[in-house]
Amino acid sequence: MVVDGLIRRLDAINQIGYKENEGITRLALSEEDERARDMVIRMCEDLGLKVRKDAVGNIWARKEGTDPNLPSVMVGSHIDTVPNGGRYDGTLGVMAAIEVIHWIYKKEICHRHPIELVVFVAEESSRFNIATVGSKALAGNLSVSKLKSHKDANGISLYDALLQRGYEPDRLETAILPPEKAKAFVELHIEQGSVLEKENIDIGIVEAIAAPIRLQIQLIGQEAHSGACPMEDRRDALSAAAEIILSVEENGRKESKHKTVATTGNCKVFPGAMNVVPGEVYLYIDIRGIDLQSMLRVLNAVIDHTEKVCKKRDIQYTIEVLSQERPVLLDRDLMEQVKQNCRRLGLTYKEMPSGAGHDTMNIAKIIPAALIFIPCVGGISHNKKEEVHLKDLENGLSILFETIISLAK
Ligand SMILES: [Zn+2]
Repeated sequence: MVVDGLIRRLDAINQIGYKENEGITRLALSEEDERARDMVIRMCEDLGLKVRKDAVGNIWARKEGTDPNLPSVMVGSHIDTVPNGGRYDGTLGVMAAIEVIHWIYKKEICHRHPIELVVFVAEESSRFNIATVGSKALAGNLSVSKLKSHKDANGISLYDALLQRGYEPDRLETAILPPEKAKAFVELHIEQGSVLEKENIDIGIVEAIAAPIRLQIQLIGQEAHSGACPMEDRRDALSAAAEIILSVEENGRKESKHKTVATTGNCKVFPGAMNVVPGEVYLYIDIRGIDLQSMLRVLNAVIDHTEKVCKKRDIQYTIEVLSQERPVLLDRDLMEQVKQNCRRLGLTYKEMPSGAGHDTMNIAKIIPAALIFIPCVGGISHNKKEEVHLKDLENGLSILFETIISLAK
């Protein structure tokens, strides 16, 4: 497939929010984001698609099939970015979908099901500390109070930002997608990791999207003078924390065959002075995977170990589970269809988990959904250096085209 058109579209949209040496910044519902979204609407209208926006600002662009009563085949992603982001995260999926629809027009391909592009609002959590807002709205997994409680650094709530852009956050429930309206959803995305590149594989077919269990462990020992307090009298909260941190890593390693990972990402030490035995420590632990049982084994092992260490060291502790989400398994039949299309196109493929969250995980809760990865150079993403090889762009476009056609025909 010729990729010139896709590259032209990517070049055009990625001028918006771009700064030399800084990358692309299109924070959710910002001026730049809105301008980029207007450009998407123009691209769609130029093709002849019928465009609308829902109550939370998701963009919908529809190409009718020969039978308007059939459920639609949905395809899409997002165009908002992290600060100083790259050219492809999300944007690839949207631009490739528009290009696929352009080809369907150009080749006058007949399809029975309507094809609907959806551009999800506020996928990135950078501005409002909540991710995949648009797809959560479709899945009915948002509330007005939640929109009001998430605020950006300037104190503007997601609710107010939506109002400011002319959307209708109070009519949130009108954005819910009735499952009978759509047959399937397909998202093309860069991998944002380096598995495909390392193994020299063209296409990643995501089998499940990982979910995190996050916990905070508070350890309370006894603050003491680092010179005057003898070793045997100490109740050192940081030394206890060290043993717990190692057990997080060890248990993550034990479960890595189930694709589970465990990280202690942050540690706060009080009072945090070089000459004071630490009296209080907070650990922040993130356990992720696609196998809930495996994740729970890590969680329980860490809790058991914390209890043991604290008993031995006479440390008090509290454990708070901050969030516990379930991994989302994607549709096997759709995966099979994508594999068939790969074989037909002569592309190599691999089933893989996605460690990062995507809009697909919300949509998969209501209709069959597929997430397709192409390799990105060095696995670098959420970074201005995000890069994709030309042949991978071409492969991504081809597999998206085949998949949409096979679903919609
Ligand atoms: Zn993304």
